[in-house]
Amino acid sequence: MSNPLPKTVDPYRLAGTGAELRGRLPLAAMKRLASRLAVAEGEVDVSLAFGIDADHTRYIRGSYSAALQLVCQRCMEAMVFPLRQTVRLGMVTGEAGKADLLPGHYEPLIIEEDSLNLVELVEDEILLALPIVPMHDQKACAISLESLCDAPATAAAETHKPFAKLSGMIKAQNK
Ligand SMILES: [Zn+2]
Repeated sequence: MSNPLPKTVDPYRLAGTGAELRGRLPLAAMKRLASRLAVAEGEVDVSLAFGIDADHTRYIRGSYSAALQLVCQRCMEAMVFPLRQTVRLGMVTGEAGKADLLPGHYEPLIIEEDSLNLVELVEDEILLALPIVPMHDQKACAISLESLCDAPATAAAETHKPFAKLSGMIKAQNK
């Protein structure tokens, strides 16, 4: 399972033989993704099955997973983001216009010159799956929501008092 995957494959040949690829790709090889990571270390576990379905669509189905180190946008520290996604890709040859003919349950994958770059494929998939604004869970973050609210709030403290009273009343009622 821990073998490195080839960087490029012939997707039509693999679909024709019903091949399965399982292995790992290094995150360090994914340059576009690297700018979104705190540390571009580690690998992506990839499992892909190639084949041809009853509609004669050549497909790639499978999944990938990785523990990515993203940058929390609240405290700017690294955070581990476990990512696990499935893929359902239908191969489209050459011009993108043929993507319209694909059955709806496939994402189009445009193949040029009988060659597929697995690193770029997985990198594209990961980029689409990343959260737009990654953040720690509140409890795990170095900057708590309270500290964000309290810091400039001395002037506004007066307005918070009615709510403090109210929550006290609610607690009393619930006893
Ligand atoms: Zn954080």
